[in-house]
Amino acid sequence: MIRLRGRTDKGRRWQQEIEFDLAVTLVREHMAVVVNPFTIRRLYTNKAFRQYILKRDNYTCFFCGEYGDTIDHLLPKAKGGHTTPVNCVCACNLCNQSKADRWLDDFMQDDAL
Ligand SMILES: [Zn+2]
Repeated sequence: MIRLRGRTDKGRRWQQEIEFDLAVTLVREHMAVVVNPFTIRRLYTNKAFRQYILKRDNYTCFFCGEYGDTIDHLLPKAKGGHTTPVNCVCACNLCNQSKADRWLDDFMQDDAL
């Protein structure tokens, strides 16, 4: 197990034990950095992460190009995706809802019909 450290939106410190594989994914996908061989640190609070993604994507929906202010997981959490800068994009309400937990490929294919 690896210790994951972070802060809440209000600045309070928290930590939890996570699986090694998850720790590797979080670091590889730029959500966390290595502190020492047993500890990683989450780079963003929930609020900061949301703002980071929306600004990075210019408040533009990844799917339709309209204004968006929600965060969507490319690989849904239900299918093993994680909340990381690599797996998250800005989406509009409509696309976020219609995509739900389907695979990205299914969604893009439906859209093309
Ligand atoms: Zn959209």
